[in-house]
This record gives sequence, structure tokens and C-alpha cells, in this order.
Amino acid sequence: MRLVNHRWIPRDIVGGNSTLDLVNTVSGWNRDPEDWVPDIASFLDWAHMCHLLDTREKNEAARRADAAPVAADRVLASLKELRFALWALIDSLEHRKPAKPGDLSVINEWARRLTLSGQVIVNSNKLDFAFNRDISVLELPALRVTAAALSLLKNPPAVRIKTCPGQNCGWKFLDQSKNKSRRWCDMSVCGNVAKARKYRARNS
Ligand SMILES: [Zn+2]
Repeated sequence: MRLVNHRWIPRDIVGGNSTLDLVNTVSGWNRDPEDWVPDIASFLDWAHMCHLLDTREKNEAARRADAAPVAADRVLASLKELRFALWALIDSLEHRKPAKPGDLSVINEWARRLTLSGQVIVNSNKLDFAFNRDISVLELPALRVTAAALSLLKNPPAVRIKTCPGQNCGWKFLDQSKNKSRRWCDMSVCGNVAKARKYRARNS
């Protein structure tokens, strides 16, 4: 897959759930995929923008990545493995196809890591989950995405996951509109391109 040095901006985060935002770090899944996370710096920028790392955690993760670049690259590779498995699983759920055992085993492995990485606590008079102190901050984004994915994909909102039909887009998003009518990842990007194409076709 082609690596693209993308500069993340808030408008890129359209998924409505961090699971889908991770999947959307590839553009053009079904046609000519581009990977918008070429390196650790880009990964940390993205994770911070998606609120998967707060500013303190991001700075600490950057320090760790500087100190141990090989280990950091391994974390990034493992995140991308999770990304592919989630994309494939969501795609199979969307098309009512059986999930591939290989994709499920990647997600299972992350689910296991998530279980081992923390404990249930009481916070503000309700149950919460806290990570153990020895968990590497570099792994937090993937663990947090795993938690979000397990919750998203077993609850009814999964039926509202849609794929943007924009040319070479394929981003996924949770349609939270009242009448379930959202079609595009971003109306002003893919929606307008399609509108302009239709206009040209009609007027040529
Ligand atoms: Zn789109």
C-alpha cells in the first residue's frame, strides 16, 4: 500500500467512533488504497486528534518512540494489523458475509491484551476501566480502539455503519442523522465532487 505523508486536520475525523477513524487512516480501501499513517509522528498526531491520546500521553509516547524506535515501529505495525482486521470484519458485517478466521483472531488477540491491560474500578459512583500503570503509552491507542470496537460491533449502532461512495474514498462512518440519510464522509469533499460530476454530465 502506498504511504502518504498526510497532515491530519480535524475534518479528517469523520467516523463518529474511533474504530471507524482507525479504518479511515487508509483512503480508497476498495480501489487504490493509500496509507495516511507513514510513521510514528503521523500516528501520534492522528491518535491525539481522535482523543485516543491526551497531550501528556502524546508527549510521553513521542519520548518513548525516540528512545526505542524499533519497538515503536512494532507497535505501529501491530496497530495496522488491527486496522486491516477491523476493516475486513466491518466490511463482511456490512455485506452479510462470513468473517475470516484470521481477522477474528487478530481482534481476539487485541481483546485479550485489553483484558490483561487493566482493571475495573469505581469512578464517580459508576464502574469504569483503568489501564495498569505498566502499559506502554504507545499501545494505548490500539487498546482504546479495541474497547470501542468491541462495544460498537456488538450493539445495534453497527447497522448504521456506512461506507462513503465517493470516488476512491471508502471511508466508513456511523450515520447518526435522525432519518439515517447521511451518504458522504464529508458533504463538502466527496459530496461536492459527486455533485460537480453529475452537473458536468448533465450539462455536457
Ligand atoms: Zn468520502
